[in-house]
Amino acid sequence: MKRNIAVIGIGYVGLVTGLCLADLGFRVIFTDLDERKVELVLRGLSPIYEPGVQEKLAKHGSAGNIEATTDTVEAVTKSSVSFITVGTNNVDGEIDLSGVKGAAKDIGAGITERNDYHVAVVKSTVIPGTTDELVIPTIEAASGKVEGEDFGVCVNPEFLREGSAIRDFMNPDRIVVGYRDERACRVVEEVFSGIKSIIVKTDLRTAEMIKYANNAFLATKISFINEIANICELFGVDVTQVAYAIGLDFRINPEFLRAGCGFGGSCFPKDLRALISTARKKNYSPVLLEATLKVNDKQPLRMIELAKSVLGELRGRRVAVLGLAFKPETDDMREAPSIKIVQDLLKQGAVVAVHDPKAMERARAIFGENVEYAKSSLDALRGADCCSIVTEWREYAELPLEEAKKTMRVPLLVDGRRVIDPVKAADVGFIYRGIGYGKVIQ
Ligand code: NAD
Repeated sequence: MKRNIAVIGIGYVGLVTGLCLADLGFRVIFTDLDERKVELVLRGLSPIYEPGVQEKLAKHGSAGNIEATTDTVEAVTKSSVSFITVGTNNVDGEIDLSGVKGAAKDIGAGITERNDYHVAVVKSTVIPGTTDELVIPTIEAASGKVEGEDFGVCVNPEFLREGSAIRDFMNPDRIVVGYRDERACRVVEEVFSGIKSIIVKTDLRTAEMIKYANNAFLATKISFINEIANICELFGVDVTQVAYAIGLDFRINPEFLRAGCGFGGSCFPKDLRALISTARKKNYSPVLLEATLKVNDKQPLRMIELAKSVLGELRGRRVAVLGLAFKPETDDMREAPSIKIVQDLLKQGAVVAVHDPKAMERARAIFGENVEYAKSSLDALRGADCCSIVTEWREYAELPLEEAKKTMRVPLLVDGRRVIDPVKAADVGFIYRGIGYGKVIQ
């Protein structure tokens, strides 16, 4: 008999986790407070865009390997393992744990009726101490049961990247399992036995901290190269060559050394803020992490400065913004640099036309009627004074430059992701400006 697993929270992580667990042979019961998401999953339709998710949803839906409900308590009662994959957003810079608490309460209520050992797995990113101090006591209070006897809790942070989430989940660099009760750890190891990976076994708080340290390091690496990029511009140097050369040093490595208009998404900014605020509460001032965020806060606005360096004031200028999602292959716009860029352009009086292959619906909810929604990249560029590339979708890297130039009023290209070859752009007649590109090409 297949083990039933409840996955609480149908977001980017929950959906991918559940579908991959179904691939590994489990029966998955998805739960969410959001009826719309549950309804969509029941109809075999993905509430998000993520490569491979729609196909897996349809496949496992018709094979009867998954169900979905808003009743988490019942889903837990029917399962021997529950994954908590709810959001842990910031409220006023601090982590909001109400979703995690709600899920823990439901797990407690769900296991009251069960006589066997249940394992709750905290996959959401939570600050060190949350599982000890919030999740376990909440489950105990709601169930009247005892951790380590009637149920176990593990911390299993997720490292997937949106855009390649399924591949990352199934081929992780390592699986981290924080535990207190050996038995719970063994169950989680068994759940992941179909995935070939190193398992790092540790205590609950260390597992929670590993996730923050991981994200803080990657975010810092991006802000580092962005700062170097800004300095490169001052010296007439191209940051891509610098990044290539330093990336060959095995102590540095080439990943996450692409200069650009900043990082966004649902994790790096919020996790940094949460780590900073908890460190401060313990009277430690994390200056490096604060600087990482500071560099990133300003970086999107480099796009505006580059446009202004050619056009002067932007009032009345028509600017095309290509790319709204925080990265390619997702429709996720949470904390995307595009938001800051568009809002600043509007503040400066520019007329803004936007395009994204997948995020247009989400963009409408953010920008309303204040921008023009183009049907294609060329449509966005019609009559434009500036083409700004904000997300490195492949279609923008392959922009037909001749056609693009013909349709624009001023052939200015501001490359926020360094996806267009500056020399090629100049050959076609573009005025090229790029983040970290210090050479001026007219
Ligand atoms: P999300 O916002 O896309 O989805 C979270 C879902 O949880 C929402 O649908 C929400 O309705 C639901 N939810 C909230 N409280 C609930 C409750 N009590 N019961 C049932 N459902 C509830 O979030 P996400 O991007 O999937 O992230 C989930 C967690 O994973 C976060 O802690 C995040 O930091 C972490 N994480 C995210 C990523 C990523 O790339 N998105 C990667 C690694 C880790």
